[in-house]
Amino acid sequence: MKYAIVTGGSRGIGAEICRKLSENGYYVYINYNNSAEKAEALAAEIGGKAVKFDVSDTQSVKIAMNSILSECKHIDLLVNNAGVSEIELFNFIEQENADRILNINLRGTLSCSRAVISSMVNHKSGCIINISSMWGECGASCEVDYSASKAGIIGFTKALAKELAPSGIRVNCVSPGFILTEMNKKFTESELEEIIEEIPLGKFGTTADVANAVVFLASENAAFITGQTLSVNGGMVI
Ligand code: NAP
Repeated sequence: MKYAIVTGGSRGIGAEICRKLSENGYYVYINYNNSAEKAEALAAEIGGKAVKFDVSDTQSVKIAMNSILSECKHIDLLVNNAGVSEIELFNFIEQENADRILNINLRGTLSCSRAVISSMVNHKSGCIINISSMWGECGASCEVDYSASKAGIIGFTKALAKELAPSGIRVNCVSPGFILTEMNKKFTESELEEIIEEIPLGKFGTTADVANAVVFLASENAAFITGQTLSVNGGMVI
């Protein structure tokens, strides 16, 4: 049995990653923070386990990861997917909200990774996949803190990939473009029409498009790939 942890697995992209990993033979620990019912329903659907912790709370992360590791002994794959965003001018965003974005998106990714690495190093195997964003590659006006957090994830991926490669652990990044999930519910119909015109493939991405990229990077087909960012954006950022 292969074991995976997916942060923010309760809904959206994370839930689809959990489903696809399960289809590909993984037992999945589905992390959630607020969406308990959705996480429990998904766990029942795929035969995994819902685990509550806030990725921005380092102590809770350590406790939850240790408890998972004592149950399954070895984690084959960590997917750092949990994330939040807010659209606001950089100098108008509430400091508390700006801190929340960095703490969940970037610090959460770092502390979840730190909590599983010792076990992966001991086993000389493992895979970490971080979910960044096209805005981390090229920057978005009115999403400056978000863009910074996602650019940080790309830098983190490269550095950690170098550090862990001698231990047989691969670290990669998936960088989605515009995917229709609750994160993008704030856009109006006319705004969505404008956005789609910016996408060369002429359509929004699906959660399955992102999950397929994760499954590929986790697989033996990607055995010689580490430190990379795989963009899944319909050509919006090239
Ligand atoms: P979403 O539908 O809003 O789902 C966000 C997920 O993150 C939920 O499962 C939520 O869990 C979890 N989460 C939020 N804060 C958390 C915390 N403190 N601790 C643990 N889990 C937490 O968003 P999405 O569109 O699926 O996005 C998933 C990832 O893809 C994010 O990192 C996002 O930045 C990235 N991304 C999305 C897009 C897009 O267009 N949708 C594009 C590029 C990148 P609970 O509900 O249980 O709290």
